[in-house]
Amino acid sequence: MSKKTKTVDVLVVGGGLAGGTLSLALAHGGLSVACVDREDPSLWTAPTFDGRASAIAISSKRVLDAVGIWDLIENETAPIKDIRVADGRSPLFLHYDHNELGGDVFGFMVENRSIRKALQTLLPNENKITHLAPAEISELVRDENKASATLNDGSKINAALVIGCEGRVSPTRESAGIKLTKWSYEQTGIVCTVEHERPHNFCAQEHFLPSGPFAILPLPGTDKKPGCRSSIVWTERADLAPIMMGLNDDDFLEELKLRFGDFLGDLKIIGPRFAYPLTLQFAQSYTANRLALAADAAHGMHPIAGQGLNMGLRDVAVLAEVLSDAKKAGADIGSIEVLEKYERWRRFDNTLMLAVTDALTHLFSNDIKPLKLARDIGLATVNQMPSLKKLFMRHAMGTVGDLPKLMRGENL
Ligand SMILES: Cc1cc2nc3c(=O)[nH]c(=O)nc-3n(C[C@H](O)[C@H](O)[C@H](O)COP(=O)(O)OP(=O)(O)OC[C@H]3O[C@@H](n4cnc5c(N)ncnc54)[C@H](O)[C@@H]3O)c2cc1C
Repeated sequence: MSKKTKTVDVLVVGGGLAGGTLSLALAHGGLSVACVDREDPSLWTAPTFDGRASAIAISSKRVLDAVGIWDLIENETAPIKDIRVADGRSPLFLHYDHNELGGDVFGFMVENRSIRKALQTLLPNENKITHLAPAEISELVRDENKASATLNDGSKINAALVIGCEGRVSPTRESAGIKLTKWSYEQTGIVCTVEHERPHNFCAQEHFLPSGPFAILPLPGTDKKPGCRSSIVWTERADLAPIMMGLNDDDFLEELKLRFGDFLGDLKIIGPRFAYPLTLQFAQSYTANRLALAADAAHGMHPIAGQGLNMGLRDVAVLAEVLSDAKKAGADIGSIEVLEKYERWRRFDNTLMLAVTDALTHLFSNDIKPLKLARDIGLATVNQMPSLKKLFMRHAMGTVGDLPKLMRGENL
């Protein structure tokens, strides 16, 4: 065997939020991993790399905790104590209050950059992980017994299984010929961070405007102004978004204020703006011979419910459990039986969430009068129904469904 060939249990392609967490979870579960990412990790934390913040459900927080990420980011998170959903300026709204669930918070807001910073620290220092970044795979061959990848520097990696975690554009998925179903919402998610005069009191707000949802999500503030920073996801029509993105700072702020309102006092934009085209997509299969797909490589959804990463972390927790159980039992971790277990466990749940987010997006991204009336009455009715409201709150916490061990707070 050449010096430059490495053999591991699992090759994870894409070491971002999902792939990086998966690599750590697999290593904790006793598997050896090669984690390849095409980006230079030293660029991951630049203010221009990824401006998003993610709403992390309680169950996802448990996964980040289990792999050591949470300890490194805890001081950079903000709890979500309340959620307020309103249809434009309608007086009818839905308010979820964490006190109605015995005081447990719904989840936490964390900037993607913080998670990346933790991955940057953990991945190169984990014994069972070979972290290769920046690096890219130039050839991937899968036969009955193994997957073999050739990297762009000529080195090779052999693994019993390759997992594609490269996000929505996944060469691993494409190399296996797995078809993708995809449609565009003709919307763009404009993302920025704002500082406001009054504290948000850890309440996440979502206003449904005719062009789509407008979310104000609580971030930790600064020592001088605690609770006075929020992440904005402003959904805009795809044809108007470039115009908004092209405005100078003052005009952009004025447009933002029209949508944000003045309930938190004066506003200031901090840092750059980002634009993400919004689409729905799902892979027609999550597995192939010696291959699995996870997170956005398998399914990408509208951010209306803040569930994309949460669903991806469910894939991660299930894969880590299924593969570590197989390894402990001495089974072939890349076998069809093991991969089918993963696909059976995750496919229905992800498909359901894709359908729900798709329906919500269509229902709430318009100004059709009868629809608006129906959804306003719907929001107000749920607000008055304690048991249905509690069920929705548990969904937001991610504690409903067939949870894998890492999401229940148990070890692998
Ligand atoms: C505006 C917006 C707001 C959102 N808010 C939320 C939220 O509040 N909560 C939530 O749960 N989800 C949210 N999401 C969804 C969430 O951001 C994604 O689901 C999540 O980033 C997916 O993680 P991932 O690791 O699969 O992909 P990515 O984050 O895209 O990471 C992919 C990684 O693979 C690497 N890569 C790419 N190609 C290659 C290659 N060829 N070879 C090697 N490496 C490669 C990249 O460098 C990157 O590191 C939001 C999405 C948007 C657009």
